[in-house]
Amino acid sequence: HGDTSLSPLDASRMTFTQCQTPREVPEPNSPEVMAQKTCTDHMVTARWTSTSGWEAPELKPYGPFSIMPTASVLHYATECFEGLKLYRGNDGKLRLFRPSRNCERMRRSCARIALPDFDAKELEKMIIALCARDGAKWLPASSAKGSFLYIRPTMISTDPALGVQRPKEALLYVILACFPDMSRSLATPAPPALAGAANGNGHSETKKEIQGLKLLASNEDSIRAWPGGFGYAKLGANYGPSLVAQGEARARGFDQVLWLFGEDCNVTEAGASNFFVVWRNKSTNKLELVTAPLTERIILEGVTRASILDLARERLTSPQGSLEAVEVVERKFTMHDLLEAADEGRLVEAFAAGTAFFVAPVGLIHFRGRDVEVPVQGESGDYAKMLKSWLSNIMYGKEAHEWGVEV
Ligand code: PMP
Repeated sequence: HGDTSLSPLDASRMTFTQCQTPREVPEPNSPEVMAQKTCTDHMVTARWTSTSGWEAPELKPYGPFSIMPTASVLHYATECFEGLKLYRGNDGKLRLFRPSRNCERMRRSCARIALPDFDAKELEKMIIALCARDGAKWLPASSAKGSFLYIRPTMISTDPALGVQRPKEALLYVILACFPDMSRSLATPAPPALAGAANGNGHSETKKEIQGLKLLASNEDSIRAWPGGFGYAKLGANYGPSLVAQGEARARGFDQVLWLFGEDCNVTEAGASNFFVVWRNKSTNKLELVTAPLTERIILEGVTRASILDLARERLTSPQGSLEAVEVVERKFTMHDLLEAADEGRLVEAFAAGTAFFVAPVGLIHFRGRDVEVPVQGESGDYAKMLKSWLSNIMYGKEAHEWGVEV
């Protein structure tokens, strides 16, 4: 890092090879899209070596890589990634949402897993080049309202050496994938069969339909992140080990795991999303929008999280239409605080926030044999709904805002 004799990542050196076998664009939310396997015609790659630095990026046909069985990533999980979306605006324009935040976060992830650094702006240009190349075909202007593609920047160490050491070779790549609209499917109540399955596992006997996400609080033998670990980085190593708990939650009829940390059961994140509550503060009696702080570095700093905090501080700290003002706080809170607020009728809303699920109201949290029901009015709580519509107005170009970056 910082060696000036090494070539920096430079998007202006990008070469282009046209895809000769273009594929058909699948129907939105078709089984193919649900499987999340379909990528667009092209991808961007850039190779790095410790001796030369970054080679010229290539925009080229999407397809398999060839790496050695000894490649560092396959043994030591030297990998990190990002996730953001390309939106087709109501005005027909293609936009990214705060892509510089994803590119900067990727640099922090790389630093944690000994992968090489780069200029975030150059990665952003590579992302934009790929979106500009494939956006017209894969996200046509005729797309339904609210359409998007999913962008997955990734870095792996291809270093063919079994020695446990800092990688000397890496591959940065960006792919563009068809992705189902998860927020839409979550807005509808769970089918009775699913609610019934959940009821068979210690849920309350109420047969009424739960609106919103159903979360299963994690237990001591599944801890997502810890101080001094790497939970703040978007490393693949954070996700593989979460799949057992996630699978168990699904099997029991829940949507996501609510990750708790520590003996006092601090509430951290929900699945691959940040977690927010709106409640009335016990001592001040004021409404608060609360989310876990970044200080212990055990949660991922979501772009959605940051944007919600920014917008709430700008627009919700004084009354907004019929909505009461809220205080916006990043503070530790525990499952017991949440239970108490629910029991005392102070819990107003809870929601998950992230790129995949967007802003998704939470209707139920299961913790140690107890169901905590969160009020969900209609599709969503009022604050979640307001924040969601502000964000989506920026993403889809209804509101001109510096966070919406045109491709
Ligand atoms: N937490 C975790 C663990 C995640 O994987 C994600 C998704 N990147 C988020 C939170 C939400 O981040 P963002 O809003 O940037 O998608």
